[in-house]
Amino acid sequence: MNTMDTHLYWMQEAMTMAEEALVAGEVPVGCVFVRDEKVIAKARNRTNQLRNATRHAELEAIDEILSDKTLTPQVVKYPLSTTTLYVTVEPCIMCASALRQLGIREVFYGCGNERFGGCGSVLGVNSDLEHPAHPAYNAIGGYCREDAIMILRRFYLTENTNAPVPKLKTNRVLKTEIS
Ligand SMILES: [Zn+2]
Repeated sequence: MNTMDTHLYWMQEAMTMAEEALVAGEVPVGCVFVRDEKVIAKARNRTNQLRNATRHAELEAIDEILSDKTLTPQVVKYPLSTTTLYVTVEPCIMCASALRQLGIREVFYGCGNERFGGCGSVLGVNSDLEHPAHPAYNAIGGYCREDAIMILRRFYLTENTNAPVPKLKTNRVLKTEIS
């Protein structure tokens, strides 16, 4: 596979996790962490299930990696220095910061995150912000971008349908054009 095909292949795996989040009633964001051409952890957003706004896909997977002695045999300063993240939506400021502190090698993402994005959309935590210790990392968007946007739209179109008094959403239609 060439490099672009490889990126799209891993991003499809991340999209599968986003689909799982959608089915579970979570904001559909999914991710995979890849090391030595293998997925070492995959996760999806669990903020509703755990009633914890910090349980983003990235942090769920990071917990898995760091708590697994085969994946993280020793305490090292940058345990993700040989690991690449593929995530369907630009990491938020919180996750972008965690990734930098753990020395992630590189990040590929689907669509930007205009409200919370920490890799340039709101704040450039990955590289624009100077940090006295933690090295910057590249974060490159646009992989499976349209799929990432469409699954978010599908979620926001149907959310709250299980609310006790359902609001009529007659004006809601799925927009399919993407600028
Ligand atoms: Zn996040």
